[in-house]
Amino acid sequence: MPKLIQNLQDLIALPSISSSNPALDTSNRPVIDLLAERLADLGFAIEIQTVTDSSANGAHTTAGKYNLIATLGTGSGGLVLAGHTDTVPYDEGKWQSDPFTLSDRDNRFYGLGTTDMKGFFAVALEAIESFCQTLGDSRKLKQPLIVIATADEETSMAGAKALVAADTQQARYAVIGEPTGLQPVRMHKGVMMESITLEGRSGHSSNPALGNSALDAMHKVIAELMALRESWGKKYQNPAFEVILPTLNLASIHGGDATNRICQHCELRFDVRLLPGMQNDDVRRSIKNRVASTLAGSHITANHSSLFDGVSAFLEPETSELVQFAEKLTGHSAISAGFATEAPYLQALGMQTIVMGPGSIDCAHQANEYLAQDQITPGIDLLKSLIQQYCL
Ligand SMILES: [Zn+2]
Repeated sequence: MPKLIQNLQDLIALPSISSSNPALDTSNRPVIDLLAERLADLGFAIEIQTVTDSSANGAHTTAGKYNLIATLGTGSGGLVLAGHTDTVPYDEGKWQSDPFTLSDRDNRFYGLGTTDMKGFFAVALEAIESFCQTLGDSRKLKQPLIVIATADEETSMAGAKALVAADTQQARYAVIGEPTGLQPVRMHKGVMMESITLEGRSGHSSNPALGNSALDAMHKVIAELMALRESWGKKYQNPAFEVILPTLNLASIHGGDATNRICQHCELRFDVRLLPGMQNDDVRRSIKNRVASTLAGSHITANHSSLFDGVSAFLEPETSELVQFAEKLTGHSAISAGFATEAPYLQALGMQTIVMGPGSIDCAHQANEYLAQDQITPGIDLLKSLIQQYCL
């Protein structure tokens, strides 16, 4: 498959790192343009959407970030094949080969983004071209085939948010080609990353009455968060997940300066991983309420902020037509994923959505990322069956 290899090589060669560190962050425009050119050659109508940042922390810039929406055919149903164009940064010196040069060894294609998830686009282009050739004339499509390529999935989800904000053209079904080893995934946890800052009053440590310790107050707040975590665990359980409970991880705490001073300022950071059925906004509200009642009368002020907007939990019902068709095609029951995706956003556009693509998440986000070559042909066949089912 020389064309697939060439496309994968070209996609890998174009840096499209998204990072909350502006020094590492790069535009994804070259990848968008490359995909647009290849899809236009296949007869797709091209729309390029500018993405503006809506992340909570504001540290991340989205200068030069775009989404691609490429459409072949018209109709009220149809299929979206979706993926993100960005990669995470890479560890200099830890790669055995240049991360931006496709390297073919041990029946694997190595390179930054091969599995997460530029490989999916190369596979999708091959599947679409082969399907169109069999069809003879792309005007025979009865329902639209739409390829969506997004920006900044790895950081702020700004691309997916822009799709929702623009009420982007949609189909009835959507498949996100994140690496799942070609197994259908119909649920994942949501995630939010939060910060609570407490402000007390400093004073000489010899007499507690000379100040108001933010650290003592944080101790109470932490106890409250742990109680909240326990109550969630009693209320929400889902055996389809490796960790069947929602989690709350106390990640870092910074407070105080000198040992002989009462601590004035203390910040706690934590993340919450939500099960389907839990809503990010509800969880934030209960945290805020519990902290407020814990601190009532203490003259300590609390500030809550989100380190990023968070991603909702995702659940596509097992009775959904797309889930059942994907299970039939692959011979695998739909499972849960341990990572968050853009699926809740595509669902919010009104589409039945699953996550299913070539490669393994186990080698993503690390040095010597690769796509196993034995994923490619089955990946192409799978996408062709989906196009056949939903666009003809
Ligand atoms: Zn990914």
